[in-house]
Amino acid sequence: MRVAILSAEAVPYSKTGGLADVAGALPKALKKIGLDSVLITPCYLQTKGKYLWSVAIDDLWVDWRGFRYRAKAFYSEANGSPTFLIDAPEFFHRSSIYGFREDYERFAFFSYAALCLIKRLGAPPDIVHLNDWHTGFAAVKLALFRHIDPYWKNTRTVFSIHNLAYQGGFNADELWKLGFGREFEINAFLYNGYASAMKAGIVVSDLLSTVSRRYSLEIQTPEFGHGLDYFLRLRADRLFGIVNGIDYEVWNPETDPLIPANYRLSDLSGKIICKQKLLESFGLPSNLEKPVFASISRLTTQKGIDLIMNVSGEILSTGAYIIALGSGEWQYENFWQQLRDHMPDQVGVYIGYNEELAHKIEAGADIFLMPSRFEPCGLNQMYSLRYATVPIVHAVGGLDDTIEDFDAVNFTGNGFKFREFTSAAFLEKIYEALFFYHDKELWQRIQTNGMKEDNSWENAARKYLELYLMAKGRNP
Ligand code: ADP
Repeated sequence: MRVAILSAEAVPYSKTGGLADVAGALPKALKKIGLDSVLITPCYLQTKGKYLWSVAIDDLWVDWRGFRYRAKAFYSEANGSPTFLIDAPEFFHRSSIYGFREDYERFAFFSYAALCLIKRLGAPPDIVHLNDWHTGFAAVKLALFRHIDPYWKNTRTVFSIHNLAYQGGFNADELWKLGFGREFEINAFLYNGYASAMKAGIVVSDLLSTVSRRYSLEIQTPEFGHGLDYFLRLRADRLFGIVNGIDYEVWNPETDPLIPANYRLSDLSGKIICKQKLLESFGLPSNLEKPVFASISRLTTQKGIDLIMNVSGEILSTGAYIIALGSGEWQYENFWQQLRDHMPDQVGVYIGYNEELAHKIEAGADIFLMPSRFEPCGLNQMYSLRYATVPIVHAVGGLDDTIEDFDAVNFTGNGFKFREFTSAAFLEKIYEALFFYHDKELWQRIQTNGMKEDNSWENAARKYLELYLMAKGRNP
């Protein structure tokens, strides 16, 4: 089976969030279970020059909007499997990956260019695996091409939703300029008088998936559907939930080169060293008996930072430490900075994006806070499990699928989870966790249960393979 995966970001070439982790890891995991795929992603200014490149295609002609664009495609295997990076400076050489008024145009171009590239590579793929709104444009073109171009006749599409909150909306008058002038195409995009690339991907793709089972159900409700729940309910029989894996080559305390001491299930002593070094690196006194609460997050309302704001006083009044790493909305950045200024002996804060520090915090912390309002999958709670850092989460999306509340009678469960999105419910779980933290034996039990979980990509890749097979066997 031939599979092409399209993604607007992919580790290690570019990253703003979980989508990049998935796009970077899935091809490698598919390869391990015997399925070869190619990954296609843009070549950003931030990507260029970082890896070993070879120019695979110097003249990738893309006919678009009445022009012939000449793009290039670089080839790399830096993520362990074949990747083509589309180089078109006009669209991708910017100060950041997203955040421009014309983002919809940039990714419409990416979608077109990716389809041109696939054609240049040879035999048609059985599956084009599309990810998030950036690739909704390709979904629409493929749904059309299969009827008019024999090359695409047997190609099927799988469209994965990583975060429904970002929908690639734009003025519907722009559609014809992007080359979507047919009635079928316009109808696919149209939504409430606007055009939405996410909605288009949802309504035209052969199969749909999202990054956890629970999120696949949640997005069919008005509460979590961001206005698209109706279309998802219509296509519920084609919508599947596959929890992301995590890359144990990168996130593994036994081998992680970024942490001060390695540790394993049978010997957690290295974790104490990590804790001590973490406290030192933030200039905090090393009272190793006190628990370290941690947060690593984009600072947006999605992540439930307001709940952390509401309970931080209570956490600190128990004498615990809080260490936060994140960047985003100014009110949350302000909150963290002010909390640190107010309690400099208990709070450590780093505003910004720092991959290395993320590893050090996962290793050195005791408790990980993830009270997201909604969470399609979430990765940090899974990293936490592997690093024996006990997560406290809101029971939504992937957090609900991967975290099981600790049960002190049967000794089952790998963390703590609260159902109602309130500070009181969150605080109750924080106190419960603190209670167990002081019972060394039980605490180790929770840590061990977490470390034993298998959230590997191989598991997830097998489920994607099933999905591809199902799509392949399907008539459009
Ligand atoms: P989302 O994709 O919604 O941001 P996920 O939990 O799925 O959330 O993935 C977030 C990824 O980004 C994780 O790998 C996390 O460690 C990383 N991350 C988020 N913020 C930072 C930061 N400030 N510094 C380093 N890594 C971060």
